[in-house]
Amino acid sequence: SDCKSKAQDLHEELNKYSSVKKVIGVVSGKGGVGKSLVTSMLAVTFNRLGKKTAVLDADITGPSIPKAFGVHERCRGNGEGIFPVVTETGIKMISVNLLLEHETDPVVWRSPVITGTVKQFWKDVIWEDVDYMFVDMPPGTGDVPLTVFQSLPIDGIVIVASPQELVSMIVQKAVKMAKMMNVPILGLVENMSWFMCPNCGKKHSIFGDSHIDGIAKEYDTQVLAKLPIDPELAKCVDEGKIELFSGDYLDDAAEIIEKELSK
Ligand code: ADP
Repeated sequence: SDCKSKAQDLHEELNKYSSVKKVIGVVSGKGGVGKSLVTSMLAVTFNRLGKKTAVLDADITGPSIPKAFGVHERCRGNGEGIFPVVTETGIKMISVNLLLEHETDPVVWRSPVITGTVKQFWKDVIWEDVDYMFVDMPPGTGDVPLTVFQSLPIDGIVIVASPQELVSMIVQKAVKMAKMMNVPILGLVENMSWFMCPNCGKKHSIFGDSHIDGIAKEYDTQVLAKLPIDPELAKCVDEGKIELFSGDYLDDAAEIIEKELSK
């Protein structure tokens, strides 16, 4: 089909040193729901499973992947391309924050420039061999995420939502966008789903009962994980030490994703 040949073309655009087997887009209906955190944790989880893992930070105007990994060095390049930064545990990473002169500089680019940058991240970065590449997509369902979607050969997407989005139709829009573009939905992740009270040891649903199971059923997809609000996790991210986080919240999700992508 047209879609297949488009993905094939995009794979052929990679530089001669690179081969990327599976590309997973992580999307959300809006910002601030934990999309970058889930992208990072998925990468950490797959890397722990021994897969050659990479993260392409396509959230150009709000890049937060390098910070979670404590990566502050600049990318280097040569005439052949750009080298990704490699994290402490061996995850390859590219982000606009690794290219800016000062990582606190704001990125105020218009959508064609953003899309152009993402395309460059795909074809000009010397990724070499990657089994699983996770793409932190721009939030929302507007022009920017749409064009980014079309410029990468995405094999499947993971949709991240908080319990509030699940009631407010925002996640439904993300699901519909993926369906319109014929990208398989690997599943949904509910973030900030619950909180384990350190005093009473009970799980609390801070935002009320979860609707994610119903929504997954309605859209013929599955729930990959329900992540708690975890202060330890927040601390690891803030300190740039997500690779040291010992939680295994996404282990089952990784198994499901691998299975889905091998179909
Ligand atoms: P997005 O990429 O959707 O804009 P982020 O992943 O950057 O959102 O998350 C926003 C903030 O919330 C970050 O500081 C992150 O560390 C924190 N956060 C997200 N999910 C959790 C969680 N489950 N537990 C604790 N903190 C979280």
